[in-house]
Amino acid sequence: MTETYTPEESMQNGRYLEYGGQYLPEILLPEIKRVEAAYNQYKDDPDFLNEFHTLLREYAGRPSLLYYAKNMTEDLGGAQIYFKREDLNHTGAHKINNVIGQALIAKRMGKKRLIAETGAGQHGVATATIAALFGMECEIFMGKMDTDRQRLNVYRMELLGAKVNAVTSGSMVLKDAVNAALQNYAARSSDTFCVMGSAVGPHPFPAMVHDFQSVISKESKQQIQTVAGRLPDYVIACLGGGSNAIGSFAEYIEEPSVKLIGCEAAGKGVDTPQTAATMKLGSTGIFHGMKSRFLQNKDGQIDAVYSISAGLDYPGIGPEHVALMDSGRATYVPITDDEAVNAFEYIAKQEGIIAAIESCHAVAEVQKLAPTLPKDKIIICTLSGRGDKDVASIAKYRGIQLSDD
Ligand SMILES: *Cc1c(COP(=O)(O)O)cnc(C)c1O
Repeated sequence: MTETYTPEESMQNGRYLEYGGQYLPEILLPEIKRVEAAYNQYKDDPDFLNEFHTLLREYAGRPSLLYYAKNMTEDLGGAQIYFKREDLNHTGAHKINNVIGQALIAKRMGKKRLIAETGAGQHGVATATIAALFGMECEIFMGKMDTDRQRLNVYRMELLGAKVNAVTSGSMVLKDAVNAALQNYAARSSDTFCVMGSAVGPHPFPAMVHDFQSVISKESKQQIQTVAGRLPDYVIACLGGGSNAIGSFAEYIEEPSVKLIGCEAAGKGVDTPQTAATMKLGSTGIFHGMKSRFLQNKDGQIDAVYSISAGLDYPGIGPEHVALMDSGRATYVPITDDEAVNAFEYIAKQEGIIAAIESCHAVAEVQKLAPTLPKDKIIICTLSGRGDKDVASIAKYRGIQLSDD
């Protein structure tokens, strides 16, 4: 343990121990200050919260189930396993929770246009969905490598009325899409709001994402009290930028009996260059408006990252997670492609759930941990999304070709 860390205070000042902050060019700072003022104005406003929770209930389909995985519990022979089913939300993942919240802030700021960065396209689809619902203009920035690989998601966003820009700068992947979105934001901030897809970026974005995603742990805490009469012993979630994990952890951070475990993508292994294990291998730096932990070389050049899971291959991590790690409150473990693919197949066969390959990084940790624990211990693992989108690439990983291209 180094310093103790309290979320409440950090949410106010935008610093998580030494991490977070607002590292921005002059041209964007005034607009981010306006977003911060709007967030402070509305985050406890009863009308705002009522509209947010009504949309979560009536449009996203919340509350999501807390499901007791009886087959896996018996098969692994140790702790009781529960899944928090974010895969059952509208659009198939947790991302919609956050997009609804940020889009409501945008509307109250008088914005007419939403923009977003996206990697594989899941955050872009969630943003395009809410822009359609709210009747707002929508433009998505996506690396050209990703628009080529994810044509189905590009078409999906277009169906929803969004314009998709293929970004050709840099290595044409997610980090370049973030840069392009921030540039466009700076140029058009008079009518535009940039919806950040994870618990990253300058303050207040990590704080907003924490707030909006904390519905996951607010629900799970009540649900586990109802079925088990007590708190869980472990909460486990996968980690790209860290939004589903921070939402899964939020209500337990100040419950010291609950152990928090984040599972990051090790790709081909932490001893290979084909990895996205930022917590394990990264170092402190400043990028995308925040001080946090990044995979970078000695000169601060951001590394290319790799994972089988498109949603986890971001070279950084949300600043609050770095504070949770440094303070000893949460632990972070790397999970390889192989382990995640095995978990993908295992949970499908055991429970009849095809879960997102991202989420299967957390399921793999459950497979390791549960058998080592006594039967009276309780694990809650978040299934951040559904895995329909991954079926073709898992087949390919196993050497099975499903289509002509
Ligand atoms: C985007 C995504 C992730 C990773 O993002 P976080 O911000 O770390 O939650 C994980 N799972 C799914 C299903 C996703 O779509």
